[in-house]
Amino acid sequence: MAYQLENLLGEFFAGEEFARVTGTTSHCLSLSVIADAAANGLTPSQSEHAAHCHRCLHALALAFGDECPGGSLLAAYAAGRLPIAEAVRQHIDQDDCASCRTALSEISRIAAAPTPEGPEQTLSEECARWRSRYLKAIHDLTAKGISGVESLLAGAAAAVEVTVDAAHGVARILSEPAEACRDPLAPMGLAYPAGIAYRSGGDTSKTGTQSSALLSGADLPTVRIAADAERQQIKMQFMGGTPPPVVLLIPMDEALPVTIRRPEPAGPIHQVLFSDVPAGECLIALPRDKKSEK
Ligand SMILES: [Zn+2]
Ligand SMILES: [Zn+2]
Repeated sequence: MAYQLENLLGEFFAGEEFARVTGTTSHCLSLSVIADAAANGLTPSQSEHAAHCHRCLHALALAFGDECPGGSLLAAYAAGRLPIAEAVRQHIDQDDCASCRTALSEISRIAAAPTPEGPEQTLSEECARWRSRYLKAIHDLTAKGISGVESLLAGAAAAVEVTVDAAHGVARILSEPAEACRDPLAPMGLAYPAGIAYRSGGDTSKTGTQSSALLSGADLPTVRIAADAERQQIKMQFMGGTPPPVVLLIPMDEALPVTIRRPEPAGPIHQVLFSDVPAGECLIALPRDKKSEK
């Protein structure tokens, strides 16, 4: 945690006046949880507490001033389903955060774009859809004896939803609802599992036909995903660490085949290029590092 933030939060928590006015409960989030919330989000129980605790909301808003909320949090905020929305609002207003405002307008622009999949679905419907599609695809591949995919049955190290759609000029990368595939047997809920840091939009072009995201976590090397709607391509670059043995591209449409690629060396990094990606939602899933398999 940044030194400045630690000071700020320390002062905040020591604020006797604040404690006297609001009261303190033992359920309040720890400093480290608050400081990491921008990148890792909160568990459902942490969210539930913070949503109703002025003290935690304010501390979260201070922490967001140090590190802006990540893609998943902003997407949930934009969709009106973030329990700690008040903290994000406070951060944006009080810090007059241009970066969050830009990210939010980009999110709403993409949300307003026509999508090929028809009527809008709730997040949990989307999660359930991706989970069943994911598990069926992995079961089918395992049954065919494809090597390197068995570990995915227990969950992916990382999973993101990518859409490249030339007809609508949309390239979109979403960390949720695909995150439900990281632990496909866990109870479904609005959770932001820890372990994956997600940054989106580094070079999102003005036309919206290109989008990129950076993923990093304990189970995988840093990976940059770039989606290009005009070329119907998804490129992944693995930087540092050992790349996963395989990368899967699973179209939501069950009639379309799953594509399996093995990362190949490209200079100092490894990369995977999916070309002729079908229009519509696809899931990219990466298996866990061998070391971390149980
Ligand atoms: Zn609290
Ligand atoms: Zn911000």
